[in-house]
This record gives sequence, C-alpha cells and structure tokens, in this order.
Amino acid sequence: MSKRKKEVFKTPGEKVAVIEEFVAGPGTFIEEGDIRSKTVGYTITDVHNKLVSIYPRSGTPIFPRKGSVIVGQVVNTQDKTAIIRILSVDNRPVPGQFTGIIHISTVSSNYVRSMYEAVRPGDLIKAKVISNRNGATHLSTLGRNLGVVQAFCIRCGNRLTRRGRILGCQVCSNIEERKITVDYGKEVGGLD
Ligand SMILES: [Zn+2]
Repeated sequence: MSKRKKEVFKTPGEKVAVIEEFVAGPGTFIEEGDIRSKTVGYTITDVHNKLVSIYPRSGTPIFPRKGSVIVGQVVNTQDKTAIIRILSVDNRPVPGQFTGIIHISTVSSNYVRSMYEAVRPGDLIKAKVISNRNGATHLSTLGRNLGVVQAFCIRCGNRLTRRGRILGCQVCSNIEERKITVDYGKEVGGLD
C-alpha cells in the first residue's frame, strides 16, 4: 500500500513539484519541468510511487458511474482480477474513497493468461466504468486509449520506459510487460 504525505494547499498555476522527482497526477499539469496545480485544492503526495496530485477543496459529489473514465492506481493484482484505487473520475480528482475492479476478461483484447501480464500493483491506469453491478465499480481497459499509463519496475521501483510493445527499466535493465495505452508515459494529469 502507498504512503501519503501531508496535504498542502495550492492555487491554480502554483508549483507543486518538479518532474525529475515526481509523476504529475490528476489535477496537475507540466510547464517547463515543473508540476503545477490546475485548481484550488490540496496536494496529495504518494511517496511510494512519487505521484503528486491536487484534490479540489470542495465541489459537487463525484461518483464513478457507468461510462465514466477514471484514472486510478492498482492496489492489488490477483490471477484473474485487479483492484484499483480511483484517483479521478472524468478528469475530476477524487481523494481515493472509491475503488474499482477489473476482471481479466475486460483488461485487453489480446489473450492475457494472468492479470500480472496486464497490470501490477503501483501502476497508474486509465479505465472505463462498465457497470456498478452488485455495488462494485467494474472497470475495463479494452481499447487503445485505456490501460496502464505509467508503470513502475518491480525490482527497483523506477518508472518504466516504453520500448516498442514492452517496457524497460533504465536503472536495472529489467524488462516488463503491461497492457499499456497508446500514450503511455505521458503526464497522468494531462490525459484530459
Ligand atoms: Zn528497475
């Protein structure tokens, strides 16, 4: 599980972090190497994955309903399912109170033997809500624009870089596989 640091209040355009140190999460944008806030809200820093996000101070309740596109972080992967902590719903950041589930049948149009080939804990993913059946938020990453947007090396935790259809670690040379999006590696906060 990820650890979180203290929350810091930010205004639009205010510098939050630098891209050498953090991944730009929901509610942020990148300008000249700096990660800046898109909105009035609080910084939430995920120390484990070096992810920084801005959550709005207030606003209307947001709920991941059928058809919503979410950005989330994989918290658990099993052979046939993965559990996702939802970080934003239709580009509106939510402070982690929603979780979703992906089944192996809705993760990729290619054959996937095990969920570990598609998503792993810590990965940031973009997914669509396909149902709220039985009180659970069911997600799909079928399609070119859905899937892992940022993955981390299982050996050393470094961000993985795309090398054609696979992912590589520039620190320890580890090679990994995921169901990635066409725009893998771009800023997570800039997916809208
Ligand atoms: Zn590595």
